[in-house]
Amino acid sequence: MAFWNRDLLLLTITIILAAVASSFIGHFLYLLLIICIAFIVRQAFLLKQLEQWLKSGAKSNYPASNGLWEEIYYHIFRLKKANKKRKKQLSRIIDQFRKSTAALPDAVVVLGDHDEISWFNNAAKQILGLKKRDRGQRIPNLIRAPAFIEFLNKKDAESILSIKAPANENVTLQIKIVNFDQNAHLLVAHDVTFLKNIERMRKDFVDNISHELRTPLTVLKGYLETLEDMDDDHSPLLTHSLQQMHHQTLRMQHLVDDLLLLANLETKKAQNNRVEIKLLLNQICQESSALEQLNSRIELFVDSDINIYGNEQELRSAFSNIIINALKYSPEESIITVQWYQSGQAVFLDITDLGEGISELEIPRITERFYRSNIQRQHEKNGTGLGLAIVKHVLSRHNAQLKITSDLGKGSCFSCIFPKTRFC
Ligand code: ADP
Repeated sequence: MAFWNRDLLLLTITIILAAVASSFIGHFLYLLLIICIAFIVRQAFLLKQLEQWLKSGAKSNYPASNGLWEEIYYHIFRLKKANKKRKKQLSRIIDQFRKSTAALPDAVVVLGDHDEISWFNNAAKQILGLKKRDRGQRIPNLIRAPAFIEFLNKKDAESILSIKAPANENVTLQIKIVNFDQNAHLLVAHDVTFLKNIERMRKDFVDNISHELRTPLTVLKGYLETLEDMDDDHSPLLTHSLQQMHHQTLRMQHLVDDLLLLANLETKKAQNNRVEIKLLLNQICQESSALEQLNSRIELFVDSDINIYGNEQELRSAFSNIIINALKYSPEESIITVQWYQSGQAVFLDITDLGEGISELEIPRITERFYRSNIQRQHEKNGTGLGLAIVKHVLSRHNAQLKITSDLGKGSCFSCIFPKTRFC
């Protein structure tokens, strides 16, 4: 404000001097006009000086000036300095971000609107085999695995894809895609080869041990049956012991069979054919009822004649596991309903019992291997804790889902939901 006042003061003094001079020589208006023109010419000159200084990048110190112009130069200079400082800070942050993402062991790729690569870190070069010249290319043109392309098109932030690394077949990757801006995505690939190897070793171990246990168990069972047949003069204690040994051997055999089945489900490719569901359900229900040695308490409703493209042996195993559980975990007289029906784009198999039910907390856990709810009851009911793990595996191999709803004390409903793609 002070500079502005000084400029005004100067102009006022000049006008006053012109007025004084005109009282001697006259022509006040001419003098005023000359003063105004001089003033405008000076301002135009100073404006041009400013424009040149700005054009040169305002790098050097600003030209010497005074009054309002000095103030304008000073403010521009100050803003420029602050801007430079902010720019430095920003580039330091970007630098740090670059360094940290470069040091990340996971591959990180920034994808644009059309899945074109905008940026990637060093790990992406090794893990995904990306090269500098790939920037701007669409990623599906570089990683062509169909599973990856399908995953990329969906861009579901919740799901994770496991694939072999494009640059190295021996490396297994878990890929996640995160949306971080309206049209930009971050692809993160994590090397899980080590975990996969441990998982494979665990599977191999269980597989081998199950195979190795099979033969001794069969021999043991055979001898026990022979001994039981020669039971005549045995003491009650020995008879009871033989029965218990036989019973426990059978349990172990079931366990080994279930473990082998699970190992096969995890490793072997299924042979798929048309499965006649009505026939299959009829057989399972009859066999399961026969196990109970009571009047049948299973009611079967086949309301749809849709059949499924899948593996009969696996589906038989999954369906009978659920039906046998329904019989096992419900009172002896209660009815079990088995219903096959279509709803919308899917076909359902609902197995409903009026049994003890499962608590909400346990529902997500009962499909885990060896999980058996209610420890007390474990001793009363035979089981391996592997049945529902088998069901879950079989259904996922058929692109189907298992939905469990239950009311404690009232009963449960296990729904197997098959998508339209499996209809036949
Ligand atoms: P298992 O029956 O051999 O124990 P499963 O994997 O088949 O093993 O089942 C796991 C657990 O889920 C069972 O121990 C049982 O507690 C519970 N469960 C399964 N089906 C039912 C059912 N229809 N009603 C109540 N609980 C059930």
